[in-house]
Amino acid sequence: MADTQQFFKEQSFINGEWVKADSGKTFAVDNPADGKIVANVADMGAPETTRAVEAAYAAFPAWKKMLAKDRAKILRKWSDLIVANADALAALLTMEQGKPLAEAKGEIINGAGFIEWYADEGRRVYGDTIPPMKDSARIIITKEPIGVVGAITPWNFPSSMITRKLGPALGAGCTAVLKPAAETPLSALALAVLAEQAGMPKGVFNIVTGKDAAAIGQVLTTHPHVKKISFTGSTEVGKVLLAQAASTVKKSSMELGGNAPFIVFNSADLDKAVEGAVASKYRNAGQTCICANRIYVQDGIFEEFTRRLTEKVKAMKIGPGNEAGVSIGPLINQKGFDKARRHIDDAVAKGAALVYGGGQNAAGGLFMTPAILTGMTPDMMMTQEETFGPVAGLYRFADEAEVIALANDTRFGLASYFYTNELGQAFRVAEALEYGMVAVNESLLSYEAAPFGGVKESGLGREGSKYGLEDYLSIKYTLVGGI
Ligand code: NAP
Repeated sequence: MADTQQFFKEQSFINGEWVKADSGKTFAVDNPADGKIVANVADMGAPETTRAVEAAYAAFPAWKKMLAKDRAKILRKWSDLIVANADALAALLTMEQGKPLAEAKGEIINGAGFIEWYADEGRRVYGDTIPPMKDSARIIITKEPIGVVGAITPWNFPSSMITRKLGPALGAGCTAVLKPAAETPLSALALAVLAEQAGMPKGVFNIVTGKDAAAIGQVLTTHPHVKKISFTGSTEVGKVLLAQAASTVKKSSMELGGNAPFIVFNSADLDKAVEGAVASKYRNAGQTCICANRIYVQDGIFEEFTRRLTEKVKAMKIGPGNEAGVSIGPLINQKGFDKARRHIDDAVAKGAALVYGGGQNAAGGLFMTPAILTGMTPDMMMTQEETFGPVAGLYRFADEAEVIALANDTRFGLASYFYTNELGQAFRVAEALEYGMVAVNESLLSYEAAPFGGVKESGLGREGSKYGLEDYLSIKYTLVGGI
């Protein structure tokens, strides 16, 4: 059993100190597998957030001035420490979030990859020179870290959604104040323990924990010292934060909700498509922003695909994430469970057939038996909203033009997937899908060197890759005359 104790913190991390809330108040964090309280974490609000912003602001000039290669050493060490302690961090993550241990460890390693990548990428912030308008002038373009970053993250990836922001922010030379989700603050605080060990200077990376997200968010989106807001979470909250950030015209990155189409054409390799559908739909019990939400299967293979998918799903083991062989853990809370259930009931009421699952699993509490529905139609909730649960809705389609129109008929535009063995179709469909990400004959997209993000109401900006760094930099045009 990994030793999680050394990473177990219940206080916030501001200016390099572990601190309690001014009021002394705490909030409870529970284990969704059994509902037991696992921690009581500092419940902070606006005054503590303001202090964290001031600490990040004070730390910014020295961090900005530090040589990129010296910043890189700290970030690389941080990443190495995360990887070295992946088992303990994964155990902590499963305890507060519920996902199976293997998935939790995968998240930790994937998350460390973002810090490692940006340790290096931060050394490649290149500028430009531009042919001037007159002989006696020179035009020089430089890129500078934007300043203090306010970061707000969700519970479904309690570690990697943080490193995906802090890697580029700190690599670019910005400092940051993070507000993790109230459901999962422990993984965030554990990252700070290791940042300290890696030699991160005081104030460069601060964490404010608290239940009053609106109060903390208000400070992060309106304080004049915060120059950028980076949010991952629901589209609804993202819209609120964007509106608030407008008051001081902050640069904003929004990684919001999705409603991914997963299309299987007649020519597809069926085994691969079924395997991909299971991985994309049921990972983290269906609670990822890029989970397949609408599975479109072409006429010729619909029955066979349904049969094979059902067979696979029946074989999945449901239970607490720390039990061996489990592939589906609990949903995060009752609200999440009820929403998934509502989507099933709505579909059935409108004519869908519940082929398998959908009820409370024998494991009890927040465990749902993964569900499969057929006969899905556009008027159902699942078609328009993000389900965020282990529910696969299967839609039948006849041809390419029809399925492209159906797939694009949504306000979301994050991830999309399709399986085909026709080369021409692969290009046509990839180009026609109105999504920030398209996976062809693949189901797992996240990788530090690739740009993750959406179009339409799924967000603004990209995380990961060289493009992700740009979101934390501002461009300066210097004109030098009299030469
Ligand atoms: P959420 O309810 O929007 O919460 C996300 C974060 O925002 C949490 O830290 C939450 O704090 C905070 N928050 C809530 N209301 C706020 C407010 N008024 N002002 C400031 N902060 C506020 O989303 P969630 O349920 O945690 O996460 C699931 C959502 O995230 C899904 O829609 C999913 O698609 C999306 N997501 C997107 C991506 C992506 O890359 N596009 C990745 C992962 C998840 P509390 O926890 O304290 O409420």
